[in-house]
Amino acid sequence: MRQRFGIGYDSHRFGAKRPLVLGGVTIEHDSGLVGHSDGDAVAHAVADALLGAAAMGDLGRVFPDTDERWKDANSMQLLAEVKRRVVAASYTIVNVDVTVVTEGPRLAPHVDAMREQLARVLALPASAVSVKGKTNEQLDDVGAGKGLAVFAVASLGGA
Ligand code: MG
Repeated sequence: MRQRFGIGYDSHRFGAKRPLVLGGVTIEHDSGLVGHSDGDAVAHAVADALLGAAAMGDLGRVFPDTDERWKDANSMQLLAEVKRRVVAASYTIVNVDVTVVTEGPRLAPHVDAMREQLARVLALPASAVSVKGKTNEQLDDVGAGKGLAVFAVASLGGA
């Protein structure tokens, strides 16, 4: 089996009057993330990692933010569509690994729920999905709590 890797990155500002949703999990916080969709930066980074591994473009190309269909979209549904396309192209998703960089809220209590949500959408066992939270040690705008950043790596087999 040939193995492929993709990297995904996303960042969003805090400040939206809506719930904070990461990896499909609603997390108690004083503001949500600004974005055309629901701002779920974890779903976006994972989707870009999958698209990158398959060399199938990026999230902005698959779901243009000029398209009203995706306004306030549930990003886990966008991720499900990306998964469908990657699998339809004869790839198998092996695993994904995610790092969320934020000064808050604390993610540790939510990591397992996020893994479960991602695993459900990607049809993987939770053991193939890793989510890690860390702070930016108060460096830069993420460290000042203005927003958060997410890095994701995906591994695909086949094709
Ligand atoms: Mg995004």
